[in-house]
Amino acid sequence: MNVLVIGGAGYIGSHVVKEMIKAGHSVTVFDNMSSGCEENLFADAGFIKGDILDPVTLSQTFAAADYDAVVHLAAFKAAGESMLKPEKYSVNNITGTLNILNAMCDADVKKIVFSSSAAVFGEPEKLPIDEDHPKNPENYYGFTKLEIEQFLGWYEKLKGMKFAALRYFNAAGYDIDGDIKGLEQSPANLLPVIMETAVGMREQLQIFGDDYDTPDGTGVRDYVHVTDLAVGHVMALNYISKNNESLIVNLGSENGLSVMELLEEARKISGQEIPAEVVGRRAGDPAKLVASSKMAKEKLGWEAKYSDCETLIKTSWDVYKKKAEELLG
Ligand code: UDP
Repeated sequence: MNVLVIGGAGYIGSHVVKEMIKAGHSVTVFDNMSSGCEENLFADAGFIKGDILDPVTLSQTFAAADYDAVVHLAAFKAAGESMLKPEKYSVNNITGTLNILNAMCDADVKKIVFSSSAAVFGEPEKLPIDEDHPKNPENYYGFTKLEIEQFLGWYEKLKGMKFAALRYFNAAGYDIDGDIKGLEQSPANLLPVIMETAVGMREQLQIFGDDYDTPDGTGVRDYVHVTDLAVGHVMALNYISKNNESLIVNLGSENGLSVMELLEEARKISGQEIPAEVVGRRAGDPAKLVASSKMAKEKLGWEAKYSDCETLIKTSWDVYKKKAEELLG
């Protein structure tokens, strides 16, 4: 298929591009490079520098080539920031997505794979979290994702669009073959923060609370390897094409890891001290989030293969270590 990957120069997007090419698709990346990096662009994918807030560039893009499908990963994703700057999230995440959907309708492109998030669920009422779990987003970011899932439902009903909304749990790790090396800029997520501390880009890790009701008191999350996530996009696109049916599905490892477990494994693998101090809890952080990925297994045949703690850390450390060596000469 001829696939336009919007946000394809970013962290998850670049991994998706790689797996799409591997599966035999012809790929063009559309990215405004606000958080994507050139290093993440593949020679065998096309590239268009463009912004989803610019409907003219979007319609020119769709007019210039015959795309069969879109993968849309262009969004702001910092939950904390979304509570302080909801306007930014409304415009980019919601208006931007509507621009894409409308340009797709004009160009008669009927398939889209969308990056949704476990943030649509909010505070868990039961674990593991399956797709039917109540949706009460705790932050504005999660609300934008839930809202877009609903737009997708309407565009399916009214315009015959087929979509896969993939609810990512905690994306982590780096390309299993070491082909993707672009670092995220100013990351706020746990694993890149641990890595930046390990290479000396930060002085210390702040552990947000050690008094949760979890085995070691620190927060437990479902970390899913980014290569596993990327493969999930290929499978989801196949699914909606073959079955002509939309899909909303969780992608998680079903395995809970605590902040402390990740930190200890990172210390072991990197051989670095990685200084850390316990600070207060971060607002809006639940104690534990773990996915049920039963539906992904049943419908897509998808299972997390690389999401064990060691592989998550090792693939990340390989990238950060090399980058630190390059920077230090
Ligand atoms: N966390 C932490 N220090 C950090 C960043 C995150 O202790 O600098 C904890 C956070 O409280 C949560 C887990 O790590 O328990 C994962 O947080 P992250 O921001 O990566 O993802 P989230 O689950 O919030 O989407």
